[in-house]
Amino acid sequence: MRKKIVAGNWKMNKTFSEAEDLITEIADALDEMELVNTEVVLCPPTLYIEMASDVAEEANFKVGAQNIYPADAGAFTGEISPVMLKELKVEYCIIGHSERRKYFNESNEFLMAKVDSLLKHGIRPIFCCGELLPEREAGQHFAVVKKQLEESLFHLTAAAFGMVVIAYEPVWAIGTGVTASNEQAQEMHGYIRQLVAEKYGAKTAENTSILYGGSCNGKNAMELFAQTDVDGGLIGGASLKAEEFIQIVSSL
Ligand code: PEP
Repeated sequence: MRKKIVAGNWKMNKTFSEAEDLITEIADALDEMELVNTEVVLCPPTLYIEMASDVAEEANFKVGAQNIYPADAGAFTGEISPVMLKELKVEYCIIGHSERRKYFNESNEFLMAKVDSLLKHGIRPIFCCGELLPEREAGQHFAVVKKQLEESLFHLTAAAFGMVVIAYEPVWAIGTGVTASNEQAQEMHGYIRQLVAEKYGAKTAENTSILYGGSCNGKNAMELFAQTDVDGGLIGGASLKAEEFIQIVSSL
């Protein structure tokens, strides 16, 4: 049975002490909850990962990174390798976020290399896909998502693909306060699961966790997560407030 997952993408937010407070608050609240077949993942800025991992050892959440460079080591000034993250017990890493595609020009081909590099070290990619507003308005959203999956993921073997979590994040919904409707989310999630089934078979598709991301919050999470093919969320802004993030986790 596929896992339900709520992952918090903190982006470039919080000072170290604020991050410590937020992690402690979330860990304390999760201690009081019974999570069945559910994973909570916190993806703080890289600087805070060691601290987060220390807390996670005794808590009910996993630690994720927001980025890697696809090499084990070398002359890549400023970058972080999956080997370094693995040593800090990182289990997930966000890949292909629209902000990285836009501001850092990350192509589907480069993201494929990142996916391979993570899997080589047993770190699960949370692979983001999703269309821009003009692409949706032009009716191209299915084609855009299909191309992203085909060019960055569908080279994987079925066994390797089993490590991947997919996050559908329509770019027009990220940080805008405009959430995809329940119907829009379900329609795309169902489509993604169908693509996975065609490529890897029904069993792999059934076992793939597909998260929704884009202005998901404490108010709308319950309805979004109730959709058949929505297995949780990748949460940006609302993951920075412990109470709201926990409300989202409770909506699973
Ligand atoms: C994100 O950046 O992955 C995201 C979903 O952001 P937000 O929840 O703020 O829209």
